[in-house]
Amino acid sequence: MTTYKAPVRDINFVINELLDFNAHYQTIPAGAEATPDMVEAITLEAAKFAEEVLSPLNQVGDEQGCQWNDGEVTTPEGFKEAYQMWVEGGWQGLSHPVEYGGQGLPMSMGLIKSELVGTANWSWGMYPGLSLGAMNTLYVHGTEAQKQLYLSKLCEGTWTGTMCLTEAHCGSDLGQMRSKAEPQADGSYKLTGSKIFISAGEHDLAENIIHIVLARTPGAPEGTKGISLFIVPKFNTTEDGTITDRNGVKCGSIEHKMGIHGNATCVINFDDATGYMLGQENEGLNAMFTFMNTARIGTAIQGLAASELAYQNALPYALDRYSMRSLSGVKNPDKAGDAIIHHPDVRRMLLTARAFAEGGRAMIYDAAKYSDRMVQAESQEDRDAAENELGFLTPILKAFLTETGLESASNAMQVFGGHGFIKEHGMEQIYRDARIATMYEGTTGIQAMDLIGRKVVLDGFKLYGGFCKKLYKFGFKNLISGKRRCYSAKLIGYTLAWNWHTVKMVARASRNRDAVGAASYDFLMYSGYLSMAYYWAMMAEVAANKLAEGGEDKAFYEAKLETAEFYFSRLLPRAKGHAGCMNSSTDSVMAMSLDRFTAR
Ligand SMILES: Cc1cc2nc3c(=O)[nH]c(=O)nc-3n(C[C@H](O)[C@H](O)[C@H](O)COP(=O)(O)OP(=O)(O)OC[C@H]3O[C@@H](n4cnc5c(N)ncnc54)[C@H](O)[C@@H]3O)c2cc1C
Repeated sequence: MTTYKAPVRDINFVINELLDFNAHYQTIPAGAEATPDMVEAITLEAAKFAEEVLSPLNQVGDEQGCQWNDGEVTTPEGFKEAYQMWVEGGWQGLSHPVEYGGQGLPMSMGLIKSELVGTANWSWGMYPGLSLGAMNTLYVHGTEAQKQLYLSKLCEGTWTGTMCLTEAHCGSDLGQMRSKAEPQADGSYKLTGSKIFISAGEHDLAENIIHIVLARTPGAPEGTKGISLFIVPKFNTTEDGTITDRNGVKCGSIEHKMGIHGNATCVINFDDATGYMLGQENEGLNAMFTFMNTARIGTAIQGLAASELAYQNALPYALDRYSMRSLSGVKNPDKAGDAIIHHPDVRRMLLTARAFAEGGRAMIYDAAKYSDRMVQAESQEDRDAAENELGFLTPILKAFLTETGLESASNAMQVFGGHGFIKEHGMEQIYRDARIATMYEGTTGIQAMDLIGRKVVLDGFKLYGGFCKKLYKFGFKNLISGKRRCYSAKLIGYTLAWNWHTVKMVARASRNRDAVGAASYDFLMYSGYLSMAYYWAMMAEVAANKLAEGGEDKAFYEAKLETAEFYFSRLLPRAKGHAGCMNSSTDSVMAMSLDRFTAR
């Protein structure tokens, strides 16, 4: 069974020493309440809840899974009680406006909470996690009446939310979606259709479930331009939220799947279900992007969570498992062999997970500042600017951190040798739970196309250019005055190479459109390694300065520097391999005809 200890020291390092959340909070209205004491108190409380309530349910959730019985879903033992504690603790509305029952704190504080909850028990965390996406969508696109009714209940946590996009024949390509919404005389709609893979679609944790559903109105244009968004409650209610009768929404079945067993993945059938339009007709996909972007950052946290949990649980084993002698001399003379942590290959696996966890945390928490600015912006211009910056980072965070999270989980299993494959230790659960993260919320392939297509080329390289400028600025400044100039030099070198490879790739794409798709995965991974290098370079500067000041916590800062060194020496060079692939001929991918694919 895995255990979880919230990495509070590292979180404090990131939010206080690296990113100065306190200064940031003074620039946004919701930040007034988020004093350092308040942030610390909330982090510690969330850590306690994660360690003491959620972590012990992680294995229970995996073993028991959810049970379906004639449309009703029962969650694993303890999930309901934990959710009740969550509601009573007022956790759900932490970062949502006070006028809808929230606590009005910055979005970034919600992300800290999400990391702690998600690492302790990802399956459980998905129930409130999906609600968060529904809350954000309602907040941005809902009418005042919709917010008063639905957002308030979701903030309380007494109702939960879902996102209903996927249908059996389409997930990535939502333009093919078929669910229908017929307008009614009273302004409502009747929805008919079937959605699959709906996370938290049915359960016994809350009194009502608010489905946020994509569907087409009669005569709507084909493709993505004819999709609208609807609020469809499981139970109909009066305007003050009193439940009246059951709506035409039923859970047809739940999936039997590889991991995240504690979270119900549902077929949800809508049969003349009453729904209410959210936002404008035919602009549903745009509105749904509010939900999807929340969920994508949430899924990036799943990648970080996998790296963190994997590292934490593999480390004690590596310290206490003895096998053969260290090549550089005996380390544990009183044992028949040396602890496996003395073997370089075991250290490689541990340090990889650690570097991805700590680097990923810095990346996500910095991005969280953009969500704060987006939500708190006082002008449309500022909101758009923050949303665009976050939009550029989102595919990198989502795809790179989930891919690296999976690698960490795999490495941590490997540290256990054959025992990693055995259920008892829980390492294989980390891997199974993490495996979905590269698939849902847009696969890695879809994120890669989004990054290179929409966020780089179609944007005319503006966001890309702005991002590079940030890297160069840090690199050149610290090349002259920094304490770790070698990292600044590497950062500049890899950014220059990124620019060169991007230009070459775009030039090739002008001759062959498939060049972009063929390069997209490697482009994304290069972007990920480079972005993480920026954060590791920053962390190394902070740690080196702290050590120079000669204060407390020497071991923490030294370990930070050693992990930074590992990142720059052993992980960042992988970007060169991606660059090589990115710029190889498109024909090597596209030349094989379909009949040759089968000719073997
Ligand atoms: C456990 C679980 C929970 C989920 N939760 C939800 C949920 O709550 N709500 C919801 O609506 N959905 C949910 N999903 C659905 C999930 O988001 C989709 O499965 C996912 O987006 C991929 O869609 P698909 O399965 O239809 O694959 P497809 O779209 O058929 O893709 C198949 C493969 O083709 C690739 N591909 C497709 N098009 C392109 C392209 N243009 N360029 C390059 N590659 C391409 C993909 O990358 C993928 O590798 C969940 C799924 C699972 C398994």
